[in-house]
Amino acid sequence: MSVDVIVAGGGPVGLLTAALLDAAGVSVEVLERKAGRSQLAKATTMHPRTLEVLTQLRTEGDRRLSDLLVALGHPVPQAHFAVLPAGLDYTRLDTPYPFVLIVPQTTTEQVLADHLRRRGTPVHYGHDVTAFTQDADGVRVTVNGRVREAGYLVGADGARSLVRQQAGIDFRGTPPSMVGFVADVTLTDPPDGVVHHWDHRHGQLSVIPLPDGNHRVFGTEAADTGLTPGQVRARQAQAPTVDALRANLRRMTGGDHGLREVRWQSTANDTTRHAAKYRSNRVFLAGDAAHVHLPAGGQGLNVGLQDAANLAWKLAAEIHGWAPAVITEGAAGYESERAPVAAELAGNTLAQAALMTTFTPAGAALRDLMSALIAKGGDTADDLAGRLSGLGLSYVPPAPGHPLDGCRAPDLALSDGTLHRRLAVDRFLLADFTAGAVFTPLGSARVEVARALPWSGLSAALIRPDGYIARAWTAPDVEEVAAAVRAWTTRP
Ligand SMILES: Cc1cc2nc3c(=O)[nH]c(=O)nc-3n(C[C@H](O)[C@H](O)[C@H](O)COP(=O)(O)OP(=O)(O)OC[C@H]3O[C@@H](n4cnc5c(N)ncnc54)[C@H](O)[C@@H]3O)c2cc1C
Repeated sequence: MSVDVIVAGGGPVGLLTAALLDAAGVSVEVLERKAGRSQLAKATTMHPRTLEVLTQLRTEGDRRLSDLLVALGHPVPQAHFAVLPAGLDYTRLDTPYPFVLIVPQTTTEQVLADHLRRRGTPVHYGHDVTAFTQDADGVRVTVNGRVREAGYLVGADGARSLVRQQAGIDFRGTPPSMVGFVADVTLTDPPDGVVHHWDHRHGQLSVIPLPDGNHRVFGTEAADTGLTPGQVRARQAQAPTVDALRANLRRMTGGDHGLREVRWQSTANDTTRHAAKYRSNRVFLAGDAAHVHLPAGGQGLNVGLQDAANLAWKLAAEIHGWAPAVITEGAAGYESERAPVAAELAGNTLAQAALMTTFTPAGAALRDLMSALIAKGGDTADDLAGRLSGLGLSYVPPAPGHPLDGCRAPDLALSDGTLHRRLAVDRFLLADFTAGAVFTPLGSARVEVARALPWSGLSAALIRPDGYIARAWTAPDVEEVAAAVRAWTTRP
């Protein structure tokens, strides 16, 4: 067997999966069908939780991949939900990254690919995966007509995933009913900052400044909604034109903002599906291979990268032979935790599609109502900001315990540094909040004990490699904490 894991697909999710597995001491190779890195601009929005995940990966010195991306991107203080006039305020979020980072997907992929190259982790371009088989010992993957062997296969091969199809995993959901347009353009007379136009007679159009001085324009014409799947296919078969884009700009904004050059142009629809299973024995799905939806609120890439973060440490633990059943096939397993996230993603993007593309007076009234609720800044705004930013996500703990069990750990102050820069993919972190450092003896190769400044009245918190709290305690009961540490880090 040449490597522990083959990752099919060198998009952002495949690249991050490989980087995290490598950081956990697992040998991995990425097989990508295309001849080189993708030039498709696609995602521009990176949310705070994704930047927290990328903080785990060290590059030169103590710099992290999140540091590199923040330096290359453009932070904006508000996210949008369904391009409503009232934005979601990220400045109050408890994170080192209280903003949306505007950064093209090509830049994210380049940062990840450069990191893998520096680490010596192979990314083989021009390698088309055409089949695989698996048995109790491993997987055999057919690539360019030859067979490669590995212990496991991760299908990060996008929406039309061959891995998903060959694994016989259903991809259920709803067919498309609308077509949106998207383009990266040079404007000589751009609007100020991010702007969203919505008008029930014509449609919707947004303009977002990109870090390189160009602009992302996206929207939907009212005439391109309420379509049958066949009409969607026919509409998307037509190549998007510069004239149509200019006409949309004029119709919806009154001018063309000095549209000079169209650098990339495409269309998107609201097909919404998610995989019935995330794992089939030695084969996993992650990213668009596991869920597709309308790109609304900038979530597909973000959720896919967080699939990778959830999967990598568990798979590494399995390969290293210490993974307890609770993280391989139990309540804290990859599929148990990520399938509900994809279901929620499907729901919130469909809800956004309804708010964005119901071009009727009733649709306008619903938007006004939702926007007013968000502008009030109460629970609705907080809940939506939690969903989109990724910070509101928590996993259902395997057993009832402290209310913080399953929640994401904020960037806690440690006696030396902060939590997010201390987390490592190959070990848990036991935050010891006691004055006497009573939990120090529980340290091991799989558990780093770190003294932490007081937080939430806790005595200790066992934090998973992906930054979620496995267990939290208020009493300094060393025996009880030791038992939980054993339960999460050993295979009986
Ligand atoms: C217009 C648009 C705007 C978007 N905006 C945002 C946004 O702002 N924020 C956000 O979070 N998301 C956004 N998304 C979604 C985001 O782009 C995707 O969710 C993301 O690309 C998924 O990454 P992935 O690695 O799972 O899949 P992909 O990026 O599709 O990568 C899969 C890779 O697998 C390769 N591959 C496929 N089959 C094989 C095979 N058989 N063998 C080998 N390789 C194979 C492909 O060539 C590809 O490189 C947007 C999408 C679109 C279309």
